[in-house]
Amino acid sequence: MLITCPYCGPRDAIEFTYQGDGNRERPDPASQDLDAWNDYVYGRLNPAGDHNEIWQHSGGCRMHMRVVRNTLTHAISSAVPARGDTHARAKRRGVKS
Ligand SMILES: [Zn+2]
Repeated sequence: MLITCPYCGPRDAIEFTYQGDGNRERPDPASQDLDAWNDYVYGRLNPAGDHNEIWQHSGGCRMHMRVVRNTLTHAISSAVPARGDTHARAKRRGVKS
């Protein structure tokens, strides 16, 4: 499986680390809503089709990205930086895009 890093280009999936579901929203840290925390920590979707995921190019530029991957075919339709300012940080660190 190839993943196209927004900074480094297409790379083998072995260079990347799956960081989790990109759809989860963390409850307010001060919240004592146990159901919300339980769902955040243990609740997982298992979609058949496109899924928003967070990946890190851990064997390359180490940037986090949002990837839309089809869980049936592993086809990746989108890979964008997880944060808008990461491109500027990557350039400051000398990572070529
Ligand atoms: Zn990269």
